[in-house]
Order: sequence, then C-alpha cells, then structure tokens
Amino acid sequence: MSKKWVYLFSEVDQAEKYVGGQWEDVRGLLGGKGANLAEMVRIGVPVPAGFTITTEACNTYLASGETFPEGMWEQVLLAVKNLEKDSGKKFGDPKKPLLVSCRSGAKFSMPGMMDTILNIGLNDETAVGLVELTGNEHFVYDSFRRLIQMFGSVVKGVPDEVFEEIISKYRSRARVKTDAELTAEDLKELTEEFKQIFRRYTTISFPSDPYEQLKMATDAVFKSWNGKRAVDYRNASAIPHDLGTAVNIVAMVFGNLGDDCVTGVALTRNGTTGESQIEGDYLKNAQGEDVVAGIRQTMDLSELRQEMPNIYAEFEQIVKQLEKHYREMQDVEFTVESGKLWMLQTRSGKRTAQAAVRIAVEMAEEKLITKQEAVLRITPEQVDFFLHPQFERKAIAAAKSEGALLATGLNVSPGAAVGIVAFDADLAEMWTKEEDKKVIMVRPETKPDDVHGMLAAQGILTSRGGRTSHAALVARQFGKPAVVGVSELEIDINKRHMIINDDTIKEGDWISLDGTAGEVYSGQLKTVVPDIMDPWLIKLLSWADKFRRLGVWTNADNPDDAQRARTYGAEGIGLCRTEHMFFEARRLPYLHKMIMSDLPIERREALDALLPFQRDDFAGLFRAMDGLPVITRLIDPPLHEFLPDHMELNHDLTDLKIRIKHADTLEKVDTLLQQINEKALVLKRVESLHESNPMLGLRGVRLGIQIPELTTMQVRAIFEAACMVTKEGVEVHPEIMIPLTSHVNELKVQREILEVEAKKVMREQGIEIDYKFGTMIEIPRAALTAHQLVEHAQFFSFGTNDLTQTTFGMSRDDAEAGFLIRYLRTRILPENPFATIDRDGVGQLMALAVKKARSINPELEFGICGEHAGDPQSISFCHEIGLTYVSCSPYRVPVARLAAAHAALLDKNPAMKNRLAK
Ligand code: PEP
Ligand code: MG
Repeated sequence: MSKKWVYLFSEVDQAEKYVGGQWEDVRGLLGGKGANLAEMVRIGVPVPAGFTITTEACNTYLASGETFPEGMWEQVLLAVKNLEKDSGKKFGDPKKPLLVSCRSGAKFSMPGMMDTILNIGLNDETAVGLVELTGNEHFVYDSFRRLIQMFGSVVKGVPDEVFEEIISKYRSRARVKTDAELTAEDLKELTEEFKQIFRRYTTISFPSDPYEQLKMATDAVFKSWNGKRAVDYRNASAIPHDLGTAVNIVAMVFGNLGDDCVTGVALTRNGTTGESQIEGDYLKNAQGEDVVAGIRQTMDLSELRQEMPNIYAEFEQIVKQLEKHYREMQDVEFTVESGKLWMLQTRSGKRTAQAAVRIAVEMAEEKLITKQEAVLRITPEQVDFFLHPQFERKAIAAAKSEGALLATGLNVSPGAAVGIVAFDADLAEMWTKEEDKKVIMVRPETKPDDVHGMLAAQGILTSRGGRTSHAALVARQFGKPAVVGVSELEIDINKRHMIINDDTIKEGDWISLDGTAGEVYSGQLKTVVPDIMDPWLIKLLSWADKFRRLGVWTNADNPDDAQRARTYGAEGIGLCRTEHMFFEARRLPYLHKMIMSDLPIERREALDALLPFQRDDFAGLFRAMDGLPVITRLIDPPLHEFLPDHMELNHDLTDLKIRIKHADTLEKVDTLLQQINEKALVLKRVESLHESNPMLGLRGVRLGIQIPELTTMQVRAIFEAACMVTKEGVEVHPEIMIPLTSHVNELKVQREILEVEAKKVMREQGIEIDYKFGTMIEIPRAALTAHQLVEHAQFFSFGTNDLTQTTFGMSRDDAEAGFLIRYLRTRILPENPFATIDRDGVGQLMALAVKKARSINPELEFGICGEHAGDPQSISFCHEIGLTYVSCSPYRVPVARLAAAHAALLDKNPAMKNRLAK
C-alpha cells in the first residue's frame, strides 16, 4: 500500500499517531490551516467537509521533478468521494454540483504568500445546474468568473490586471461602482470574455473537467512553495525552506447566495488594546475575499448580533470554545450560508505589543494559561516597545507608499524620532535649547565630543559604525532612537546637506527615524507613545521577577539615570563609569591640568579641585539607590582621550603661527605667542602620551598604578559621599571596582592604596561603611586566573566589551566600521560577538572564570556589565553559568527582567520552549 498522503478532516487522530503525538508535528504534516480545520472538526465545530494533502506530498513532489507522489492522486479521488458523501453533492454533476476550494497552508502562517483557488468544479454544465438549484444566476456567474480569474492567475500566471481591466470596463458600461452591482447578464458575458482571455494568454482552453481543474490547482499550490514571494517571505521571517506546504481541499460554502448569507472575519480579543471583546467585520451576501479586499464597506460584527441573533450567539459560543481550546486569542474566518454558520479557519491572532501583554495577563488571570506561560508568551522586543515612542502603523504604511522611505541602516536603539537635520553637535544643542526645535543629529559617526548634541537631539543618524559604535552605545544608554551604518548616506558638510541615494536633504529639513526598524524617512511621521507604566506590563514583569534567578542591575553614571532605572526595576548599579563625569565643561580643565602637570603638588591640587565634583556625583547616586548596591569603577580610558586631538592641535598651531605674521600690534603678538606656547605644551603632552595601541596601553588599573593619586582621589570621593549621605539617613552599599586587571598583583597594589584611603576617610568622618572591593574580568588572563584574583576581591564583574575585544584580538570600533560586516554577511561569524556573547570562545572563558572563582569562594558575587547584559540571548547564557546579576542600561532593565525570567523558566522546564511567543 502506498504511503498516506491525504487526511480527511475527520482523520486528525491518525495524523497525530503518525507523527508521534505532538501537535507541533501535526501542524508540520498538515500545515497550520489544515491541522486547525481538522482539530475544529474533532471538537465539534461546524466546518465544511474537506481534506488535506500533506506537506510530505509537497516535498516529495518538489524533490521528484514536480510529479505527484505515487498513490497520491488516487487518495485524492477517494477523498473527493468522501466529500460527496458528506455533502450530498457530486463533483462535476450538473444536477447537484459540488464545488471546492484549493488552498495552500504551511506550518507557519505566510499571509498572502501562497495561493488559493475558489469555486473549483464549475463549468458550463455545472453552472447551469447550479442556477437551477439556487435560482441565483448572479451568484453562479459571479463565482464562475472568479474561478477563471483565480485559476488563470495562480495556475497559468495570467496577469490579474488583464481581468481587472475588463471588469472595470463592465462597471463603467453599467454605470455602477462595485462588481456586486453588475447584473447576472453582465456576469455571464464577463465569464465568456474571461475564458477568451484565458485562451489568449495560455493557448489552451479553460479546463472544463473539474478533476483536471483540481489536479492543475494542486500542482500550482505545490509549486507556489518555491515562488519568489514565498521564498522572500521565508527568508525575511526565518522560516525554513524545507517545510513544504500542505494543500487543503474544502467543500465550498457560500456567503453570497442571498440576504441570509454572510461572510466575515473576527478576532476573539481586541488586537490593538487586548481588551477581552470579540471584534470583527462582515459583509452580507458576499464572498470571503470581499471582506479583506476592502472593495465594499464592511459592517461591524456587533451589528450581526442585532441582525442574526441566533447565528451570533452560536458564533460567540464557538469562538469562546476555540479560544479556550487553543488557550490563545484566535483570528477566525466564517461564512453563513442560507442561515447556517460555518467556520472556515482559525489561527492565533496578530496583535500589538500592548495587546499581547494585556491578553497574556488576563488569560493567566482567567486561568486559561499559567503565569509562567504568560511570561513566556511575551517577547523581549514587545517589552522594549513600551519604552519608546513608535510611529503609527498607518503612518509607516502611508510613508512607504508615498516613497518617503529614504534608506535602511542598523536599528541600534529603538523608538521613533522626528526632527530637523543638524549636522553638528553644537548646532543640535543650540537649536534645541535656544530655539526649542526638535532635532535629529546626523553625523558620519559620533565621538565623545558630540555627546551634548546627542543628548539634545531627538534621535541620531550616522552613515558609519555598527551595533556597538559610540553612537549606538550612547543612544541606548540615553534611550535615544538611533539608526547607524547607513552606507548610502553622504554628508557634504560644506554644502550643509546630505544625499541619500537620489534624495538631497538640507540642514533644517524634517526627517523621521525609526530606530526599531532601522529606517529613515523624509518628512514628519506621526508617533504614538506607549506607556511603561501600563498596568498589565507592570503585573507581567512582577510575575517575571518571581521566576527569575538572575538579579537585574543597571549601568548609570548620574542620579537621573539611576532613578529612572530604579523605576524600571533595577536592583543596583552594576557599573558607574566615573570617567563620564570628567567630561563635563566645568571639570575638564582640572583634569587637563592634572594630565599636564609634571609636579606632584600641581597634580594633587588639580585632583583636589575635582574631588568635590566627584563627591557630589556619588552622593547623588547613593541617594537615588538608597538601600541598593552601587558599583563605582575607577577611571578606565587612556588619558589622551581627555586631551584635544593631535591633528586638531597641529592645525590650531599652524593657524596661530599664520596669524602672528599678520599681527599689527605688539599686544596681539604677545597674546598669540602665549597661546602658541600653551598649545605647544599640550601638543608635547599629547605626543608623549601617544601610544600605538591605546586600547592595550596605559589604561584601566595600569593608570591607577601609574598615578596612584587618581585612585586615592576617587576612593576619597566615594567614601566622603557615602559618609555624608549616611548621616542623612541613606543606606549605602558601595562597591569599588578596578578595571582591566590582568594580574593578581595589580589588584593587591590597588587594594592597599584603597584600604588606606578608605580607612582614613572613615576615621575622619567617624563612620564605618560596609563596602566591597572587586574587579572587572575583561582580559582573558584575568578569566584564566580568577582563582588567584578572588583572593583579593569580594566581587567580579565581566566587562564583556573588552573581554570580547581581547579574546578575538579585534578592536570593536575597527571591526564594526570595517570587516565585521563582511564576516557577518558571509557567515564567518554567525552573529556580531559585540552584541551577543560568543559562547564558544568568550563564553568558555566566562564559564571557566566562574568555576575557578567559585571553587575558592562559592558565594562570590559575579555579574556582567558589558553591553551584552541587555541582550536576551546573552542573558540566557549568564543564567546558565550562574552569574549573580546582569547590569544593563536603564532602558534595557525591563527587557532584562523578562529575559532573565525566560532563562529560568526554560532552564527548569525545557519543554516550555514550545510556549514561547512566535
Ligand atoms: C566592558 O569592557 O565590557 C565594560 C563594561 O567596560 P567599558 O565598556 O567601559 O570598556
Ligand atoms: Mg571595559
């Protein structure tokens, strides 16, 4: 006996047995649509008789040069006999003709990507018979012309427009607006004309044998799996190409037989807000595609309740049953044929992020699903959605159809931003602060000097850079939407304009940035602002908090960020980058002075001047984090980063020298000379600090060892602040972190300096502060010797930005600006290791470090504060290796709470993976 290629809707039990009992596999075999139709039959929902040709048949067909597998067609014929028996009609019989639809249906829904043909079985004879039977010539010839049109375009590739052109000719001839208003005579004539078109385009006659129609339709649906549209869709949605499509053959029911007929679509809950209320549209006396095609004005489903109360009551009961059965919001299609309700399709409904959260929470409260499932059903992206303004869906669609989409880049920081273009940071700040304008800052790439402009701007656009470029990092840190790496963007700073492909945008023109999708539009798109204080989101995250084991801390350098992160649920500060505090205009001169001076006394003076600033910074952080740990990292970057650029200095010096030539008074000469001397000194210092590889040079702990006063000043500021706020009644838990350690002796030396200073301050202040001393693990040697380092540290934190750079031997900025793109495109690297932890390399070092350190101190606090701490896949890895917490930017905190819960739930129960949101 040949293999079973065809399953009647009533044979779902057999299909289930064949695949081994898993519903996912039934969907794999029968496709989502076929599996659900069969399941509806099993639970007693009225579904027209039908059967499914399996995806295995499709795959065998495609693999064998497009021939039907052995025995398949015979099984189809038998199944048609079954339909005839069930419906009391006969395929091809003019007296009581059975008509069927032929629809594709893959495992995952691919809306509009593959093909459907309705009304198969109509020919000249059956049409006459059907007219006699229904007394409705209009309906019959409307159905017939639709069959020829769909068959022509799906099976033979006749362009749809050719048919549409003729219909519109008929409409204008009859002076009517819609097809429905054409007379039966018109439609009959139209049918004949469609047949001629079919012949002209295909050189064959429209097949009148219903079985021939069915065979050709099945063949076409199988082929449509490899159609361009379908392949592109699968590529974009990461659906595997080897799944194949099933074919569903279903007895037709008609919503266009008269006024007691209806066809409609509905969602069991509101897809925009999530409210538990059925919503949908329907049309009287119409066929299914009329509702979605938008040709006729549809009616709200609530009107059906008035018009057909009994039908509505049955419908309501069925969709509630379906929702309960699938434990998920459903999207259904239905038809009422002469007063009898039929369900034609059910699948899980698409929804906005807000609706997804509300539905998950309410379903858990209704005990339809567990709280664990509710948490697993929400994706990190959906949580992220609540944190940023978004463009209205309608606005995006309209902008795209108007050709306003200028370019696409990397979507590095989500949210929507609208503003006028400013090409430099000063202008961006000036326009925002002084003229109250909304600005998008556009740069080739950004540098620390640009931060004030970035903070002032609504969003950031760059032509260069990658996911962890400066622009991306800062944008995420401050929750600014950003699109980077738009390679087709050319900025002409002299002409103050940019060119993207063929469009020229001047400084001051409006543009809109979609940081969620990585898209750049011209003009102003309308935005909506979701609310992080959404009550359902708050509830969902509070459930997530109960399930997760990982702590969620934040990276924050100022009290505002700390406060925000705390509102979002942060449980501590895992990284305060103290160097960020030095960049402020009032402080930078002191730091310059410290760097420029050769005399210890001068250096001391400069540092003393910086101390009060730092103390205030830390006091602010302690207050904001009252009762929670605050990890302060001592200064990390190479000192040259605080000094002017070498090229710029040379340029300025040349400029001054030229000016001195033209100075016309002695006074001017004196002033210029003084300026030249000062600049020359700075240049000398910059040159003396120059390193070939600053990333691997004098930075991190090496700086603290080279200039111990730097460590002392920062430690003093931390402890003075801690004592000060303790006196105010604030509960402080300071932790001091050394960056870039590679050898235990570095730690030992710094610890001694720190302990002496800390004790001194505490004695002066008369207060004992409980604190921790620890280090970052961001050099492979540190990871490998974690068991030695732990003898001198009470906590560790992975700096995975540097650990990735040093493990790969790859500078992040250089990689992302250059070769990494090719690496990713050619799959040399499967993922950007600066965005998602490279488990095989960096991950192995991390796991080893945890193991080694915990073998000495099992209770060791071990966190992560690199960019990866906000990435869901990396969070899952951090859970696996047993870290204490992840510390991410404030705007990632809610996402990290959810991702940490996912990791814990899936760890305990891997089978729950199937319940993850798709
Ligand atoms: C790191 O290296 O991961 C880290 C957090 O430090 P920074 O990014 O400041 O170098
Ligand atoms: Mg680092």
